[in-house]
Amino acid sequence: MGEFKRTLITTALPYANGPIHIGHLAGVYVPADIYARYLRLKNEDVLLIGGSDEHGVPITLKAKNEGVTPQDVVDKFHAIIKKSFKDFGISFDVYSRTSAEIHHKTASEFFKKMYDQGQFIEKTSEQYYDEENQQFLADRYIIGTCPKCGFEKAYGDQCESCGTSLSPTELINPTSMISGNQPVLKETKHWYLPLDQYEPWLREWILEGHKEWKPNVYGQCKSWIDSGLQPRAVTRDLDWGVPVPVEGAEGKVLYVWFDAPIGYISATRELTPEWEKYWKDPETRLLHFIGKDNIVFHCIIFPCMLKAEGTFNVPDNVPANEFLNLENDKISTSRNWAVWLHEYLEEFPGKEDVLKYVLTANAPETKDNDFTWKDFQARNNNELVAILGNFVNRALVLTQKYFEGKVPARGELSGYDRETLAAISILKSEVEKSLDSFRFREALKNAMDLARLGNKYLADEEPWKIWKTDPKRVETILNVSLQITANLTICLEPFLPFSMEKLRGFLNFGKQDWSQFGNTDLLTADHKVNTPELLFEKIEDNVIEAQLQKLLNTKKANELAEAKAKPAKESIEFDDFGKMDIRVGTVIQAEKVAKTKKLLKLKIDTGFDKRTVVSGIAEYYEPEDLIGKQVSILVNLEPKKLRGIESQGMILCAENADGTLSIVTPDQQVKNGSEVK
Ligand SMILES: [Zn+2]
Repeated sequence: MGEFKRTLITTALPYANGPIHIGHLAGVYVPADIYARYLRLKNEDVLLIGGSDEHGVPITLKAKNEGVTPQDVVDKFHAIIKKSFKDFGISFDVYSRTSAEIHHKTASEFFKKMYDQGQFIEKTSEQYYDEENQQFLADRYIIGTCPKCGFEKAYGDQCESCGTSLSPTELINPTSMISGNQPVLKETKHWYLPLDQYEPWLREWILEGHKEWKPNVYGQCKSWIDSGLQPRAVTRDLDWGVPVPVEGAEGKVLYVWFDAPIGYISATRELTPEWEKYWKDPETRLLHFIGKDNIVFHCIIFPCMLKAEGTFNVPDNVPANEFLNLENDKISTSRNWAVWLHEYLEEFPGKEDVLKYVLTANAPETKDNDFTWKDFQARNNNELVAILGNFVNRALVLTQKYFEGKVPARGELSGYDRETLAAISILKSEVEKSLDSFRFREALKNAMDLARLGNKYLADEEPWKIWKTDPKRVETILNVSLQITANLTICLEPFLPFSMEKLRGFLNFGKQDWSQFGNTDLLTADHKVNTPELLFEKIEDNVIEAQLQKLLNTKKANELAEAKAKPAKESIEFDDFGKMDIRVGTVIQAEKVAKTKKLLKLKIDTGFDKRTVVSGIAEYYEPEDLIGKQVSILVNLEPKKLRGIESQGMILCAENADGTLSIVTPDQQVKNGSEVK
C-alpha cells in the first residue's frame, strides 16, 4: 500500500425514502467511520464521503401516495438521515445529496463527456405510455396480472406474490397506476452503456488484479462477469432526476444507478476545490464501503463508467459486508422491522458507542449475522462495563485513593511488569493488521484485549492487598496500569470515540497520534489525573424488555395488516336468518366472574325484560366502562350455564384478526328492545 499518498473513502448513499437503521450502520457506516478515524490518527490524508440518494421511482411513488412532491419526501428524510449520522458520530467530511445543484452539474458533465466520446449505444424500443397523462411509465408504475401465478397486482418489473422478475410487456391486462387506464406501446429512444465491451478489462482488472478482495466480493464479481454482461440503459422517461443533457432528450432523466455513484464525486467537489486530486491522481486510493446488494454497481458498473470517462481512478478495494438481521428476521423498512438510528439515539442518550461496539463486535463481515437485544445487553454489561469500564475505573480510583490523583513513578520492574508493557506493542501490531485488511470485528477484539490485559494485571497484582505492607510496589503497579489506560485512549479511539474523549478527560490527557500507541511512558510521574466517573453503565433487564415489547408490537401490527378475511360461508334462506331474534339492549350491571380470566357477568335491559348474560370479553373491557353501553344481543339463544350462572342470550362481538373482541353497538342511541335485522 506504500504507493498511495491519500485515501478517498465513499459510503453507499442511503436512499432518502426512509430513516437509517442498524443494518445500514453495521454494513457500511460504522466500519467506514472506524477506518477513516484510524487513518486520521495516523495523520494520513483521508476523506470520508457520504450523501443521500434522492432520485428514482420509489421516491416519486412515495410522494404520489402521500400527496406531496418528490422534493418534499427527500427533504424530510435527508434531514433525518443527516442529523442522525451527525449525532451518532459518523465522521463524514461531507454529507451531501443528489438533488443538490452541484450534483446535477457533475452528473450532467459526466454523461456529456461519455456521450461526446461516443461511449453509449442509442436504441429505440417500445415502452408503455399513458396517453391521458402523456408520459412513459416506469416499470413500477404499471400493474397487471402475473403470467406465472395469476396474481392480479404484479408490478411491471416483478411479481411480489411469486417473486418472478418480469418486464412490463409480459403483464396480462397492464394498467397505468397514474390514470388507471390501459397504457399503449410507444417508441422511445434511450442510451445504453455497452457493459459487454468492458468484459476483457474487468477480467484483467478484478479477476487477475484484485485477488485480495474479500471472498464474498470477488466471488460475486466473478459470477457476474462469467454469466455475460449486457448493455444497460443509462436513461429513462421520468420527470424526477438529472435531465439528460443532449438534444432530443426532453422528458428523459439519467437512470438512478448512473447518477447516484457520481454523487460521491459531486460531494467531494462540494467539499474541496482540490477534489480532482482525490479522484484522478493515481496516488489516491479509492475505497467503496457498501452492503452486498451494491457489489455489482460498485465493482462492475461504476468502474466501467469511470474507465469510460477516462480521467478517473477506479476503486482499489470494495470491502462489502453481508446483511444484518434483527432478532432472526430480515430487517425491513416497509414492515418497520428495524432498530431505527434516530429512535435509538433518543431512547439511549449517551450510548452511541455501545451501539457502535455491538455492531462492530457482531459485524456481518463474512456472512449474514443477527442483532438481538439480549446480545446488546450482554456485550454492554459483560464487556464494556465489566472489562473496559472496570479496569480504567479501578486504575483511576486507586490513583486518587493512594496518591491524591498523581501518577506515581515506576520503580524496579518485575518480569510480569515487563511482559505486560511489552504486550502493548504486540497488540498494536495485531490491531493494525486487522484494520489494514478491513477485519473490523477482529480489530475490535484485538483492541479490547488491551483492556483485558490491564484487567488481568490488576486482578493478579492486587495492589489493594499490599498497600499497607509494600506501597513502593503499588506505585509501580499503578504506573503500569495508567500507561495501559493512556494507550487505550489511542487504541480504542477509532471504535469508541465518545468514550475515549471522556476517558482522556478523566486522565487529563490530550488526543494522541496513532504513532504514540505502544509508548509506555505516555503519562509522566506526578501528572495529575481527574476524579473519574463511570465510563459505561449497566443496562438493566427492563430496558431490554421494553425494546423486545416494541418489536413484538410491530410483529403483531404486521400480522394484523397481512391477515386475510375468511371467505363467506354457504348461502342460507332468509327464513334461517329470521329465526334469530337480535335486539339492542343496555348494560345496567357488570362484574367479573370470580376465578375466571375471560368472563363477565352482565345484566342487560332488553326493553322487555332484564336478563343475565355471561360474555367472554373480560380481557378487552373493564366492567365499569360497560355500564350504560348499548349492545346487540341474541335473545332467543337456548340458555346455558357457565360457571354456575345461567346465561340468557349472547352479546354480539366482532373478532379482530388478532383474536381481540369488540362489541357490536348501534352507531346512534336507539330504544332498548329495537330489533336488529
Ligand atoms: Zn406471480
